[in-house]
Amino acid sequence: MSAPLPAIVDAALIGAGPAGCSAASWLAQLGLSVALIERAPRLCAGLEALDFAQDWLLGEPGLRLSQLGGRYAGHLGRQPAVHLRTATELQHLDWSASDGWSLQLHGAEGAQRLQAKSLLLATGLTPRHPGPLYPAQGRGGRVLDALELTARRATLPRGRVLLLGGGDNAVENALYLRAQGHQVTIWSRSDWRAQSHLVQQLEADAAIARRPALPLPSAVEADGESVRVRSKAFGEEAFDHVAVLLGYEPEPSAWLLVADALQRAGVTAPSQPFRDEPRFTPLGLFVAGDASGRQHPCVQTALGDGVVAAKQIEAFLRPLRESQPPPALRRSNRQVIHIAGLRFGANLGVLDFEREGPQPIQVDAEVNLGAQVIVSRDADIGHVLDYRRVRAIIIDECTAEHTDLLEALLGKLCTRLMRLAGVVGVRIKVTKLEIFPDCQVAISAEAGQW
Ligand SMILES: Cc1cc2nc3c(=O)[nH]c(=O)nc-3n(C[C@H](O)[C@H](O)[C@H](O)COP(=O)(O)OP(=O)(O)OC[C@H]3O[C@@H](n4cnc5c(N)ncnc54)[C@H](O)[C@@H]3O)c2cc1C
Repeated sequence: MSAPLPAIVDAALIGAGPAGCSAASWLAQLGLSVALIERAPRLCAGLEALDFAQDWLLGEPGLRLSQLGGRYAGHLGRQPAVHLRTATELQHLDWSASDGWSLQLHGAEGAQRLQAKSLLLATGLTPRHPGPLYPAQGRGGRVLDALELTARRATLPRGRVLLLGGGDNAVENALYLRAQGHQVTIWSRSDWRAQSHLVQQLEADAAIARRPALPLPSAVEADGESVRVRSKAFGEEAFDHVAVLLGYEPEPSAWLLVADALQRAGVTAPSQPFRDEPRFTPLGLFVAGDASGRQHPCVQTALGDGVVAAKQIEAFLRPLRESQPPPALRRSNRQVIHIAGLRFGANLGVLDFEREGPQPIQVDAEVNLGAQVIVSRDADIGHVLDYRRVRAIIIDECTAEHTDLLEALLGKLCTRLMRLAGVVGVRIKVTKLEIFPDCQVAISAEAGQW
């Protein structure tokens, strides 16, 4: 039984592939508390079946992906600062501006709740399953996606194999299966999109039936004996196995929960998680690895993304000055309270007639509340500064006692307004309206952050 999860962590990470493990390791070394949630029974479980040599791996050419996954998992397992939960499902999520992310988890330890100041999605990709080509049921182990083919290709009984797709994965599998003695057909709706060295090998192998730039079949149906494939170009054909290798999309399970949570909180979310989506950072939401829609998804880029995400989370959690919002927030969505043309009598000035009684003044003030989290529902605004309070403070400060110098009055006003919770800057202008018959006189001051 693993140690209980703390009630609240700095960062909850969903998905323990290379991106999630890399981010967890960095966050822990940056001194932040981390919970890493993985639904598979082991860390980096997705790499276990990928027995490909990584000849481009700088410093360790030839290492296999499965070996790398084992190393990442072993390293992370030795970091006590990371709270690991494997075989654990994320069941529900809530977000609020004041509390951050609330997670409901379900795993071997039963139901658990966790509060997190930030959330990282590192949930990877899932193969696309277009309906007519990859039926939801009745595939009989004969219609396979990329993951299923990878797991079975070394032991697939020799026969007729149809590969649907024209990218690296389809062409590499065509060459591999041909070398294993299968009768291979590869069929792509566009021209080959694989790397040129793979395409050259494909073009050179006359034993592989090639169907580039042809509309894909209209139906694929499996029974116990074979797979029937129907198309306009070739009528009805039979194969022993069909592999649907038509790319990947972000794994939707966790993202759907995030999108629901944001919708309930009145925050507009995009339809997919994206890297560097500007709306995410103010919410304490980050995405790394394949899930982020990066251009070249692979293990090395996923590891790098984990590092970048960890640094972004650190910047979000550790503002330069504790009283200020984090830098990302300071850059956008600044809110300012404006008090314009506030007129009343004040005891102010060093001239004789000024000492006789109050004189009319006008105060104009701007109170900078800094960056605020973007919310679109009244109920979620949380801690707002009441502008009636700002008005009352100005009148109170100007009328409480006689002040000789306008400059001193400005100083008192700035100091008092800057003390209000959430205020990061004040601009104030005091005008003596009747000091001279032919003009008004005003002095303004600026304090704090603008
Ligand atoms: C057939 C194949 C061959 C490949 N070959 C290579 C190669 O040779 N070299 C290379 O560098 N890359 C290769 N890749 C790509 C590589 O595997 C990925 O780019 C890399 O694993 C991405 O890491 P990641 O952490 O972003 O996502 P993943 O490794 O996909 O990890 C995501 C993790 O999130 C978990 N998860 C998802 N949803 C939830 C949820 N709701 N709750 C909890 N956990 C969740 C998943 O179980 C998974 O463990 C290959 C991929 C495939 C499919």
